Amino acid sequence: PVVTRFAPSPTGFLHIGGARTALFNWLYARHHGGRYLLRIEDTDRARSTEPAIAAILDGLDWLGLTPDEPPSFQFERAPRHAEVARGLLDSGHAYRCYATPEELEAMRAEQKARGLPQRYDGRWRDRAPGPEQHNQPFVIRLKSPTVGSTTVADRVQGDVTVSNSELDDFVLLRSDGTPTYMLAVVVDDHDSGVTHVIRGDDHLNNAFRQLALIRALGWPEPVYAHVPMIHGADGGKLSKRHGALGVEAYRDEMGILPEALENYLLRLGWGHGDIDLIDRAGAIALFDLDGVGRSPSKFDLKKLESVNAHYLKIADNARLTALVTPRLAALAGTDITAQQQSMLQGSMEELKQRSKDLNVLAASALYLVRTRPLPLDAAAQKLLDPAGRSMLAATRERLQALPDWTREALEAAATALATEQGIGLGKVAGPLRAALTGTTASPSVFGILAVLGRGESIARIDDALA
Ligand code: GLU
Repeated sequence: PVVTRFAPSPTGFLHIGGARTALFNWLYARHHGGRYLLRIEDTDRARSTEPAIAAILDGLDWLGLTPDEPPSFQFERAPRHAEVARGLLDSGHAYRCYATPEELEAMRAEQKARGLPQRYDGRWRDRAPGPEQHNQPFVIRLKSPTVGSTTVADRVQGDVTVSNSELDDFVLLRSDGTPTYMLAVVVDDHDSGVTHVIRGDDHLNNAFRQLALIRALGWPEPVYAHVPMIHGADGGKLSKRHGALGVEAYRDEMGILPEALENYLLRLGWGHGDIDLIDRAGAIALFDLDGVGRSPSKFDLKKLESVNAHYLKIADNARLTALVTPRLAALAGTDITAQQQSMLQGSMEELKQRSKDLNVLAASALYLVRTRPLPLDAAAQKLLDPAGRSMLAATRERLQALPDWTREALEAAATALATEQGIGLGKVAGPLRAALTGTTASPSVFGILAVLGRGESIARIDDALA
């Protein structure tokens, strides 16, 4: 059975590159009926923080990428890592290295002076410790292969080969007994039965070393898939300016829906024919590693916004109302009453057609919660010139006379008025909209009338006529 994992280091927020890695792992497991695990790689004690762990869990939760089992924490498993390192000593695949930091420093300086690559030269590889090493600190290093080559048969990058002469005898266990990242990853993946390692291609170089270690242990080798990094629109490394933000910034600050971010991230690096927008079930059905491209993806905020606009249009109105209410309250600087909330929901079908994010949506709903008299923006003031006001007065008569305050009846009345006067409907609707919303851009004015109700609508019109 397929077992995938997402293994973030909790040294910062869940950024979009990590979210995409999680998504690919999640989808791959779902597609193959397997399991998707989460491992918090918190071995770097100085840089790992509780808020970062919380942000990662929260971000995954928001995106619906919660793991199939409770997350594991790498640091807790340090004793197991040490045990594996000692096993490699016993089997002769690893050795104790007593070189002091000063000695290694001198070694590197000399390598540098001679124009050689700076790496551990294996000085303790075949040397038995003498009496002077007694009680001296040591690290445990892997006896890496020195001849031949190592090939990673990567599902995204293809076969990637390095000469083993380039692999150093890297450290498995530090002198304080703590494991290195290289050891911890291999042991944890093995012990949790991981079959597929899908991660950023910044880890491709680690894969050669990890394979050497796995082979020394005689363990099954996972399938590797190293996914190209996400770059900024200009091709450079993704920076904050480009959108390298935590996913919660997309949610909280930018008003992006999780399904929009997910869909955008899916399409960023994976493709299937000319499929553009795809729902979860479709993504599970179609996702495979063959569709993951080899070139870096470019993050495009405009594209994300257009995907978001699409998902806003098809989102459930009650859900959107709940999401927009706090934003609207913040914009208006007041609490939103239950009645206003039901007006908001009543106009959601129209509002959501025109918004690229939840902030824009909230701003477009502001007219609902404004207290009278409404402030008029400059364009609205212009529409309410003497001619506009007399039109508005005529419109008020017709609307007030209607027995039923329904959208259809309101629209029919306004249309009849325009026809009688031989003018376009816009001439009637414009001043009306200005009076009702204080602006000139808004969804259908008849929808607004219906949502505001007779009393509030007439009162706003009267304010404008006063
Ligand atoms: N903890 C590593 C990172 O955050 C990932 C390790 C892995 O996926 O093997 O980049």
